[in-house]
Amino acid sequence: MTDTPAAPAVDIDLDALAANYRFIKAAVAPAECAGVVKCDGYGLGAVETARTLVGEGCRNLFVTYPVEAARLRAALGPGAAIHVFNGVDPSSAGPLRDAGFVPVLNTLEQARLWKQVAPASAATLHIDTGMNRLGLPLAEVAEVARLSLRIETVMSHLASPAPGESPQSERQRLHFEEAAAAFPDARRSLSASGGALMARRFHYDLVRPGIALYGASPFDAPDPRLRPVARLTAPVVQLREINAGETVGYGATFAATKRMRLATVALGYGDGLPRAAGSRGSAFLGGALRPILGRVSMDLIVLDVSGAGAIAIGERAEFFGSNHPAEHAAAAAGTTAYELFTGLGRRVARRYWRGGRLLAEDRLR
Ligand SMILES: *Cc1c(COP(=O)(O)O)cnc(C)c1O
Repeated sequence: MTDTPAAPAVDIDLDALAANYRFIKAAVAPAECAGVVKCDGYGLGAVETARTLVGEGCRNLFVTYPVEAARLRAALGPGAAIHVFNGVDPSSAGPLRDAGFVPVLNTLEQARLWKQVAPASAATLHIDTGMNRLGLPLAEVAEVARLSLRIETVMSHLASPAPGESPQSERQRLHFEEAAAAFPDARRSLSASGGALMARRFHYDLVRPGIALYGASPFDAPDPRLRPVARLTAPVVQLREINAGETVGYGATFAATKRMRLATVALGYGDGLPRAAGSRGSAFLGGALRPILGRVSMDLIVLDVSGAGAIAIGERAEFFGSNHPAEHAAAAAGTTAYELFTGLGRRVARRYWRGGRLLAEDRLR
């Protein structure tokens, strides 16, 4: 992984993505394993990640909007079913039907619309079992069942998946079974990454992992069974020493109490490093984690490299990756790996690796 430009980059290990897919697939078998590639594959690139998952035998992809589905279909061709989480409206129903995408019907109105526009086309029905976010209320399930739509999959979503016991998950699971009984021919899908890592009774026929495929745990602490997929690095662009009493960065929020060595690194909130990481986060450089000093700027941060061996201009600091788990980097900024990944800025080059070789690179030029 050399010849990286002197700018931030995220290296994406497609072998690790494939390994994570195989791990979850084996953990939930005989249930099927889908791949959630919404939000541009959690910020890591929907096309490359979906291509890898399909190569591992993944037959169901989930995105949020029709435009994401169209982009995948154009790049990958037919093969996997592409489900569209946010459903249909009068302007998208016809195009979704014509493209053969599978809408996730979330309301009675959406179900009626699909009945009108595409009565013979497959749909996924999302039942809200207690998250109170998206999906059909339990009270309207019978009415949708009477429409005799081609519901191939009935799904719901867990609000509080947890490695141990979770009373809310169990309540949701029982509601789900009850509602799904109205669609006896449909396969059942309840779990995202969290539920897929929970007991077998949460797996049903199809699981829908996202974050675990990308190597981060849905439970915030790193899971040794998942391989890190994304590694965010940025180069050192300047080195300096300061004396006690000098300050660092905007607002002079950090003041040195002793002589210190600093490394300025080309990564900022414009690249998706949260401002909340200022004075709290760190990056791996010169063999150890180095604290971020003072505020995060748009394009830059300053690391404390006092006591480190020789650090060279151009050397790359790792903000998350195998030396610094994304879950830890996220926690230091009061957020999650989900938000870190999806928040990666457009100018962060995405570099795709397979079998130790650089397969593709996607960057602004
Ligand atoms: C995002 C999403 C998923 C995937 O969730 P992860 O926690 O990333 O595995 C699955 N199902 C639904 C409905 C989602 O919105």
